[in-house]
Amino acid sequence: MDFEKLAELLFPSVDKTPEYYEELYRDRGLPEGARVTRFAPSPTGYLHIGGLFSCLISKLTADVSGGRFYLRIEDTDKKREIEDGVSGIIKGLSDFGIDVTEGVTGFDSEVGDYGPYTQSKRAPIYHCFAKMLVAQGLAYPCFCTAEELEAMRAEQEAEGVTPGYYGKYAKCRELSLEDIEEKIKAGVPYVIRLRSPGCEDGKITFDDMIKGKIEMPENIVDVVLLKTDGIPTYHFAHCVDDHLMRTTHVVRGDEWISSVPTHIQLFKACGFKVPKYAHIAPIMKLDEGGKRKLSKRKDPEAAVEFYSEQGFPKESVLEYLYTLANSNFEDWRRANPDAALSDFPFNLKKMSVSGALFDLVKMNDVSKNVICRKNADWVLERTLAWAKEYNPDFYALLDADREKARAILNIDRENPKPRKDIAKWADVPDYVAYFYDSLYRPDCTVLPEHIDKATAAAVLKKYKDVWNIADDKDTWFARIKDICEPLGFTPNVKEYKANPDAYKGHVGDVSTVIRVAITSRTNTPDLYEIMKILGEAEVNARLENTINALS
Ligand code: GLU
Repeated sequence: MDFEKLAELLFPSVDKTPEYYEELYRDRGLPEGARVTRFAPSPTGYLHIGGLFSCLISKLTADVSGGRFYLRIEDTDKKREIEDGVSGIIKGLSDFGIDVTEGVTGFDSEVGDYGPYTQSKRAPIYHCFAKMLVAQGLAYPCFCTAEELEAMRAEQEAEGVTPGYYGKYAKCRELSLEDIEEKIKAGVPYVIRLRSPGCEDGKITFDDMIKGKIEMPENIVDVVLLKTDGIPTYHFAHCVDDHLMRTTHVVRGDEWISSVPTHIQLFKACGFKVPKYAHIAPIMKLDEGGKRKLSKRKDPEAAVEFYSEQGFPKESVLEYLYTLANSNFEDWRRANPDAALSDFPFNLKKMSVSGALFDLVKMNDVSKNVICRKNADWVLERTLAWAKEYNPDFYALLDADREKARAILNIDRENPKPRKDIAKWADVPDYVAYFYDSLYRPDCTVLPEHIDKATAAAVLKKYKDVWNIADDKDTWFARIKDICEPLGFTPNVKEYKANPDAYKGHVGDVSTVIRVAITSRTNTPDLYEIMKILGEAEVNARLENTINALS
């Protein structure tokens, strides 16, 4: 058959050659070893934490090598597309600190020399390369209808053979040029298929950067390259794009491993260098004793919106994703508590082969460690931004007196052992509740059990008489110690432990009674600072109210 003629017949309007595109999208000229990677989501509008994770891994792979990372939108599967998909993905990435410096930057905007970076805008490029394959006899049109393909599938099922369009089942492989011309003239719809060179018991092996050496059966199926509407399949688009965008490492979810034989075959058929592959295992979750994939249906924490709604700062989410990425990250962090994440020597080879385990409790701990190291302005600014969107009443409360809010958030901060009370901004309303009348719920039932009500009331009466808002911290504490003995407590904890029956309690118990009277909690940040912020009148009122409630 005259393949050149067939190519002209199928693609009369393709006016560019592969050489043209090779010249247009030259080698990036990066230094030896620099990796070019991409994140290539379909714009479904839902950024899964797994997608964010893949994207991060892909970006880090490029960054640590001094390479290049770009964002490509794979919108060839129109059915899956939703309107705000692209903006949703870009917002999701930027909300979590992943800046895109090449590729799609917004709906209808992009930067970079290797675009367009949206597949639906690349039809002429795909058609050019499909034409090249047809001209070389490596691709052909297939006119089979959905019914014919269904019948083929049924036949294969009955025969118990591998399903797919191949070998004797690939009926259109053998059409003559005349047959094809006739069908095209009659307007019969067709797809373009690869003429797979694979053989039934052929094997391919490749070295996955994460999973190691993998051997799989060769692809024998004449996969579709262009659908009837001329839109490419993912397989073909990925191959053309990753080649022309000069991707060196394809980093993606491991659900694509089964497609690798097809992809390698396609790269080779096109005469392209096969990229290196790194397949990331999905993020897992412990459930009923077993491990399962984090699921967008069952787990709210699977959607990145969850982290925005809860108010996890992007620094915490990233920090946590690093712990999932490389198990040596936490040791590195302990050794370099103040280092920037970008200094971490990320290594693809240290990724989990079976899937890192997601743990929300751990995520909270990581986040507490991130937040406790920040100053009050940082915390306040982000709390306000979160509250403005997710808790307007709380926003109004803080905004009405930002100095007070800042002072509250500043307690026990910027010292060598900062408290770790806040994991996410949604924790802040409760954390600061006793500072605001509208949030405060007095409750003296949390008093330690071994201190009876009458004793507690006696402590508070005495304290109310002696405390002074003008005291410095030492004097403030000295006054609490001073009231111990007259009330039957000891200011000396050791003394109490040596002789517990001789006392009602020790200075810690006295402090607790005062703390509960003022905050209704047994554990708070520095009570001295709390009292300063609440002010003389409010502290006295709370002491008085508690005394009354206890009597
Ligand atoms: N568009 C594909 C997806 O969303 C990307 C796969 C790849 O990264 O090659 O899963």
